[in-house]
Amino acid sequence: MAGVMNEPARDGLSVRNATVHYRAGLAKRSSESVPAAVRDVSFDVAEGEIVALIGPSGCGKSTMLRAISGLEPLSSGAIYWAGESLAAVAPHRRGFGLMFQDGQLFSHMSVAKNVAYGLSAQRVSKEEKSQRVDELLRLVGLPGYGSRAVTELSGGERQRVALARSLAPRPRLLLLDEPLSALDRSLRERLASDLARMLRETGTTAILVTHDHDEADTIADRVIAMSMGTLAS
Ligand code: ADP
Ligand code: MG
Repeated sequence: MAGVMNEPARDGLSVRNATVHYRAGLAKRSSESVPAAVRDVSFDVAEGEIVALIGPSGCGKSTMLRAISGLEPLSSGAIYWAGESLAAVAPHRRGFGLMFQDGQLFSHMSVAKNVAYGLSAQRVSKEEKSQRVDELLRLVGLPGYGSRAVTELSGGERQRVALARSLAPRPRLLLLDEPLSALDRSLRERLASDLARMLRETGTTAILVTHDHDEADTIADRVIAMSMGTLAS
């Protein structure tokens, strides 16, 4: 794809010739001798689009997501939102949400508190907050679960709560890193179609990382394949 896509798109996400090297412990060597975890990757995600990033373990999917979120610096290339470079924009200012395989809920907090945590950076009144929490719990199929302890929930229910939390602030882009991979097969299939519906109902722009083709096809509008750090052709 290198050299084909130059101008960033006017809306949504544009990744242009992104390369990421992990330099930890290798600072003295030149970057040439460090293999890139992501190499010369370019793609766009339009607003409202759901794209799956698929590929075998170790091919650079999580690294690509971390770079988009701003947690991993690019060694070269650029990432844009609505045509503006994100190079100088800190992760928490990008307006992007992140969700992982292990939803990373706070086990000492109730379900409602966990979902509301997603809103803590926003100025919303108490009533608005609790309304939004109820709305999200309905969306993810857990109405009335607000006062439950996270420790009472099944693995699937936890991932639903994690999704509610990451959708709460209405992220302009949601980055999902293998959100269903820790669940067993039948639950995974059921949750995949639920997830597809929830993302569309909320009009959420999303990148879903997965190594499961069926899951990618169920959830995404478009599938992008990675292989050994770069886009597979
Ligand atoms: P995927 O998510 O597709 O399984 P990753 O992005 O996690 O792949 O990893 C891509 C490559 O980068 C792999 O070779 C992996 O070993 C390496 N890698 C991942 N994280 C780090 C890190 N923190 N430090 C050094 N190398 C890493
Ligand atoms: Mg990964």
